[in-house]
Amino acid sequence: RAKELLMGVPQSAAGPAGEAFLQWIDGRQVDAVSGARIEVACPSNGHVFASFPASGAEDVDRAVRSARHAFDEGPWGRMPAYERGRRLTALSRLVELHGDELAALESRDTGKPARQGRADVTATIRYYEFYGGAADKVHGDTIPFLDGYTALTLREPHGVVAGIIPWNYPLQILARVLGAALAMGNTLVIKPAEDASLTALRMAELALEADIPPGVVNVVTGYGREAGAALAGHPLVDYVTFTGSPATGTAIQKAAAGNNRGVTMELGGKSPQIVFADADLEAAIPVLVNAIIQNGGQTCSAGSRVLIERSVFDCVASELAERFSALVAGPHDADLDLGALINERQRSRVAAMVAAAEEAGTPVLARGSIAKGAPDGGYYFAPLLFGATDPRAEIAQEEVFGPVLTLFPFEDEAEAVRLANGTDYGLVAGIWTRDGARQHRLAKRVRAGQVFVNAYGAGGGVELPFGGFRRSGHGREKGLEALHDMSATKTVVFRHG
Ligand code: NAD
Repeated sequence: RAKELLMGVPQSAAGPAGEAFLQWIDGRQVDAVSGARIEVACPSNGHVFASFPASGAEDVDRAVRSARHAFDEGPWGRMPAYERGRRLTALSRLVELHGDELAALESRDTGKPARQGRADVTATIRYYEFYGGAADKVHGDTIPFLDGYTALTLREPHGVVAGIIPWNYPLQILARVLGAALAMGNTLVIKPAEDASLTALRMAELALEADIPPGVVNVVTGYGREAGAALAGHPLVDYVTFTGSPATGTAIQKAAAGNNRGVTMELGGKSPQIVFADADLEAAIPVLVNAIIQNGGQTCSAGSRVLIERSVFDCVASELAERFSALVAGPHDADLDLGALINERQRSRVAAMVAAAEEAGTPVLARGSIAKGAPDGGYYFAPLLFGATDPRAEIAQEEVFGPVLTLFPFEDEAEAVRLANGTDYGLVAGIWTRDGARQHRLAKRVRAGQVFVNAYGAGGGVELPFGGFRRSGHGREKGLEALHDMSATKTVVFRHG
């Protein structure tokens, strides 16, 4: 059985459109009931190399019933927490064992440089390891209550969790959802993004190999408006967690509200980095660049706005320009500074936002390049650095999700805080200054779910709680905090005698 499971799909299933992947429902590989499929093109060259099922409501219903049955009747929610933890740890070892294969598949599926694919695998290993270790360390309280009573709380799983996953970090985002939900004893139906579903299918297979029982992790593939919508509104789902765009987040919350279900929403950002004149600029500059080009800027926590104290604005801007001019985008296997964007729609969207900003007179300080010989069919966008930008402009307010950085001069701390908090988002912020008191003041005043001082971690740190204010979403993922989102408190009261 293990051997049969190991390589995903029998070789005979590979046709002219490449490898034909199947989805995982109740521990078995199945096609969509309709037989419809989605073709997978590599963003580096536009060539189709695989396909997977385009599921509809009927497939989603089968998957949810499988997760429901595994939760209500199966051993998962009832087994000792340490045993669930052991199996998550086993999963982390399997990811390590198959790390090269997973990293290569992730890079090919998303167009990200090979190096980033490997970094994603490293983080994925850490997520399963972290939640494997945490599973048996979550407990409730005893509460002083009336004389003659004992009152206590238990942390219980929600039941069936629906996880709707985006395409930018499929392995990592799946791992933070799966890790926390499984540690608490939930069962899941995962709907990966139609642009990048392959590694999620592989992870469902590895979960079985790690002895996570059939039906506990189901992966249904398909389009958001079909499979995703059916899952978010399914009455047998107990809780929904979503990472992606605010507009889709709104649609998913409405669908879940139809059943009055709880949700966790991680909806992107317009994250600022604030650079004061007294900062260690040598340390800051490479971090400012990396925070926007990592994963081609397709990162919810990308540092897309840099606020610079006016006295050092020209100096920082020219250092950034020098580095931006040297950046090169190219095929994932060439492992350059950045890869292709996920698809043509995303590339046109980024190009349109950049064109509008240029038309409005925003100065372009530098452009990187696309590698010579990069395939014509790839979705490349050369990184771009804008100079002083109007804080009210679309490019200053909306998530671009591409390698585009905007700069804003400020006069004093008060203006820096106003600019930092001047969008509807609040996911991550960076503060660069040597002034200790100012570090503490700003860490409190900036509205963001994560604040880094003299550092910036786009997505790093599995142990750090992560989530947003306002349009960036609500609920927290990662760290021990995620275990609270993935469980509910039950109060139990005993009357003595
Ligand atoms: P999206 O939010 O529409 O897609 C994310 C996931 O939601 C996918 O699995 C998709 O199939 C699913 N989905 C889409 N419509 C749905 C619906 N009505 N009901 C249920 N599920 C649905 O993202 P996108 O269209 O691929 O990208 C658009 C923009 O979203 C990007 O330009 C970017 O700004 C943002 N984005 C943000 C993140 C993030 O991590 N914050 C990730 C991806 C995309």
